[in-house]
Amino acid sequence: MPNMPRFNFHRPGTMEEALDLVSRFRASVKVMCGGTDLVPKMRAGVAVAENVVSLTRVPGLSTISYRDDDGLVIGGTARISDVARHPDVRRHYPALAYACDKMATVQIRNMGTVAGNLANAAPSADTAAPLLAYGASLVLVERGGRRQVPLEDFFTGPGLTVAEPMEIIEAIRVPAPPLRSGSAYLRVSARSKVDIAAVGVAAALNLDLEGRVIGVRIALAAVGPTPLRARQAEDMLMEQIPDHDLLARAGAACVRTAKPIDDVRASANFRRAMVQTLAQRVLARCGRLARGEDAQ
Ligand SMILES: Cc1cc2nc3c(=O)[nH]c(=O)nc-3n(C[C@H](O)[C@H](O)[C@H](O)COP(=O)(O)OP(=O)(O)OC[C@H]3O[C@@H](n4cnc5c(N)ncnc54)[C@H](O)[C@@H]3O)c2cc1C
Repeated sequence: MPNMPRFNFHRPGTMEEALDLVSRFRASVKVMCGGTDLVPKMRAGVAVAENVVSLTRVPGLSTISYRDDDGLVIGGTARISDVARHPDVRRHYPALAYACDKMATVQIRNMGTVAGNLANAAPSADTAAPLLAYGASLVLVERGGRRQVPLEDFFTGPGLTVAEPMEIIEAIRVPAPPLRSGSAYLRVSARSKVDIAAVGVAAALNLDLEGRVIGVRIALAAVGPTPLRARQAEDMLMEQIPDHDLLARAGAACVRTAKPIDDVRASANFRRAMVQTLAQRVLARCGRLARGEDAQ
């Protein structure tokens, strides 16, 4: 294993201090939360930084809060395991709770953060698909400025985002789920549980009193250079009763959106087959939850 390159490690005690540091070292700085992606990448020489700014001592950044009128706010250093077991996440955002519960290992979930998972921008990032399905946004701060970026505009390629080196993800904001809605996420991986997803599908669906779809978002993981919205399938479902036939056709539309590749985790053909199967299952579960037929 290669040696870790030398770098200066900073652990600021306030957000102002953290923003000063990333602004000062912007040409060669990396923000770190759990370090579960960053440290192996620095060791392998894939990520290079003379300065690493850890956010773990910044107070108030690990908070997770929920309000019916405002939705969920996940702080920039909130751990994956804390999100997974948060009662409001489990109750209102089952797709995200499931993703946080099933991804990686206990140790990684206890160290790693949702913000780090998104900023790392792997096409397979397990929290990205559910958060895209929920219409989440990221609050990015820098010294003297703050902006909110919809998650669907955040990813630009594998490992690439619109965030600047001196910007820090302060929080992830997720709208409150509407009445008669359901959400779900499913993933498959090559080596049973502890492995990066070979395919993931998440959806959030909202029905009217007659059972017609009045809102739907579907997101696909690990089948493109970024996590993808399956808009063709979404359009197909809108204002329809989501019966078995329609869900099969929506699954086929998700396959048409997917741009899978052959790699060590799975073949493109296997990925296409899994997108069809997982999309149908996820959408069927969303429908049952929205109709109140399944407990959350
Ligand atoms: C054994 C193993 C198994 C794994 N399994 C999975 C899996 O099943 N599914 C999956 O999706 N991932 C998996 N991962 C990847 C990783 O654990 C997650 O992506 C994790 O959520 C990263 O969070 P972190 O806090 O450790 O990020 P870090 O390593 O601290 O940072 C990752 C990147 O995000 C940036 N960053 C971090 N926090 C912020 C912030 N607040 N603002 C701006 N930029 C920030 C860093 O600069 C860095 O570029 C696995 C990793 C390992 C080592």
